[in-house]
Amino acid sequence: MNSLYQLTASQAANLLKNRKISARELTESTLARMDAVEPALKAFLTTTPELALQLADQIDRRRAAGETLPPLAGIPVALKDNLCTRGVRTTAGSRILEGFVPPSNATVVERLLQQGAVITGKTNLDEFAMGSSTENSAFHPTANPWDLQRVPGGSSGGSAAAVAACCAPLALGSDTGGSIRQPASYCGVVGMKPTYGRVSRSGLIAYASSLDQIGPFARTVEDCALLLQAIAGHDPLDSTSSEAPVPDYAAACAHPDVKGMRIGIPEEYFAQGVTPDVDRLVRAAASEYERLGAVVEPCRLPSSEYALAAYYVIAPAECSSNLARFDGVKYGFRTANVAGHIGLTEQTRGEGFGPEVKQRIMIGVYALSAGYYDAYYRRAQQVRTLICREFEEAFHKFDLLLTPTAPAVAFTMGENSDPFQMKLADVCTIPVNMAGLPGISLCCGFSNGMPVGMQLIGRPFEEALLLRAAAAYETAAGPASMPPL
Ligand code: GLN
Repeated sequence: MNSLYQLTASQAANLLKNRKISARELTESTLARMDAVEPALKAFLTTTPELALQLADQIDRRRAAGETLPPLAGIPVALKDNLCTRGVRTTAGSRILEGFVPPSNATVVERLLQQGAVITGKTNLDEFAMGSSTENSAFHPTANPWDLQRVPGGSSGGSAAAVAACCAPLALGSDTGGSIRQPASYCGVVGMKPTYGRVSRSGLIAYASSLDQIGPFARTVEDCALLLQAIAGHDPLDSTSSEAPVPDYAAACAHPDVKGMRIGIPEEYFAQGVTPDVDRLVRAAASEYERLGAVVEPCRLPSSEYALAAYYVIAPAECSSNLARFDGVKYGFRTANVAGHIGLTEQTRGEGFGPEVKQRIMIGVYALSAGYYDAYYRRAQQVRTLICREFEEAFHKFDLLLTPTAPAVAFTMGENSDPFQMKLADVCTIPVNMAGLPGISLCCGFSNGMPVGMQLIGRPFEEALLLRAAAAYETAAGPASMPPL
């Protein structure tokens, strides 16, 4: 048998249920794996071994007492460090939150704990989730388990690297413009951004509230479904969370059939900077779907070309407002020895925020200021409406859309010093956030030893269909290979 840390969540859940293994054994194996690879990987900002073992022992005791437990009971889960955890330091990758210990759990964390999940630590991210490589973390970069010289993607790079390197079978991330799907693609794992409103954002440290969504990372589609099931559904603490009923996602994966499914291939997503290998592998995946009985046809989404530009007005505008709360008074870090409120706030923000965050706050404030609002912010929102309409129209004809997740494989650390190049890494994922749609990334092959991801995009709240189609491809393609680390 594989080492316990290599088990998928659903394999482990079966063994736990049948008492073949204990939650403590599984957790100890996972923690030992973390200890072994963390010096090279640096996927975590905080590890919580005592908490993890305590949670695991609770599950073992409850099972020994004959309780029937939910599927995630005893399964290790890592959390992106912008999800608030009661009593556990939560930094959002920023110096300004260095000493911040939240008084309450994010709703998703609360739900995981209710399901008996074992929290193993908080993963690294670009500061406030702003970036595409995890290099913007104020603490340290994270390495890609497939090649330690390369980035894991971002901003949820820590979660993606942790799952790829078997430091946890499951992790949560957040996705504002691609921060789950792009790192999933770079690290060769499955990552999903659910529909806006499918998962509560309460307790997620906000970046851009009209775009942010929390979602799962896993090594298989089935595990991704398991984790989504645990976190999805209405939450009275987030008025944007939907009351739409949560379907049975595991059942959707259990019948991975795409016969008759109509899949559109938007040609615009194969343009800007897409490498020949990515192009070839994603088109090969399209042919595979055809072989499996789907109807595959090209389509057009011309406004998607403007999504990136509009996003970089809307997201900074929202972040300039969301980040106003970090003033040196309410949370975390406060500069020493400055008299007066304004001076204290100015200096705390000056020392606490990194350069990328400052740049975005300034762009956001500028775009929202009187006189520029109409020229930038309103116009960006108009573009957003066009993007939404085009997707809506495409979904009259197609059940799903298939695109690359990112134009290229993971780049080398320090390589993308040009901010525009860095932003292009999200050119295929950003339109999906702009329209609030669900998207999933899964591995569709390798280019020079690095994983390549494809993205499936669906109608609002049709995560089950995405999971079914993803599972169909995964079943046909066979088990994913493991990184060398
Ligand atoms: N890279 C994009 C940005 O920097 C998306 C980040 C995200 O999804 N959180 O804004």
